[in-house]
Amino acid sequence: MRSARDFEIIDIHQHCGGADAMFGPGKAFTAEDDVRIRTGNMDRHGIDRAILLPSSMDRDIVAANDFTAACRDLLPDRFPACLGTVDPTDRGAPAEMDRCLGKLGMKGMAWHHRFNGVVLDHPGMKPLLARLQEAKLPAFIHIIAGSTLESPWRLENLADDFPDVTFVALDAFSSSDQAMWMPRIARTHPNMLFDTGVMTSVGHGLSRFVKRYGANRLLLGTDCYSEPAYHTPFPVTELLASPLADADLRLIFAGNIRRLLGLGDGAPKAEFQSAESANEHSAGDSDR
Ligand SMILES: [Zn+2]
Repeated sequence: MRSARDFEIIDIHQHCGGADAMFGPGKAFTAEDDVRIRTGNMDRHGIDRAILLPSSMDRDIVAANDFTAACRDLLPDRFPACLGTVDPTDRGAPAEMDRCLGKLGMKGMAWHHRFNGVVLDHPGMKPLLARLQEAKLPAFIHIIAGSTLESPWRLENLADDFPDVTFVALDAFSSSDQAMWMPRIARTHPNMLFDTGVMTSVGHGLSRFVKRYGANRLLLGTDCYSEPAYHTPFPVTELLASPLADADLRLIFAGNIRRLLGLGDGAPKAEFQSAESANEHSAGDSDR
């Protein structure tokens, strides 16, 4: 049986900060703690690299963007790119976005609109997406099942309005019902890619999705936080056990995100096991 060790794996969906921060004050991590815990988790599961995005998207966004960039800078080989975020209702959003894409060297922007309390296709998104379109950079947008603020049809509205922007639908397969919609949306929106974060354990139909619309439309994401809210990165396990060809997995696990963010050709599978990652930190106690 295939193993994670057989492939370069880039997790495109890792938040910097604790998941608890979404629901309360949360636990304050230093960048050093974040990276130590994160790489320990990645090493345990054979995940080579990760694309980082902020955790707290609704409070002190400037600090959240700075924290994400600081984590990347501690280990740029493991974290070859990161994404920023801005609140679409904030007048200062365009300036903060310019700071993310300029001074902080981020490769795109990410949103989780339910934490901003606004609909995904809020009018404030238009000038921000126009800037991304101009810069030829992608937009990573959560469409988690159960949030009507983030209904997939709202992302379709943005994808229709900005056909030259590549949209990554984060949490695309996060319920069985929603997974049934993804092939339909993939068919009509060639500028959308699809992430496996928060993937449901049954009925997600990934093999069928890839068969119909190609492995170049799917990206491996696990929705990790500073402390992972899972004990095993389910999408990795599921994809490895699937009947999908190795060539398809190479695209899903690394090739697609390398092309999207301009990260160069595939890197060799690395030996990342370090003294720090060998410690026995808990793989996460949360069930979220
Ligand atoms: Zn997420």
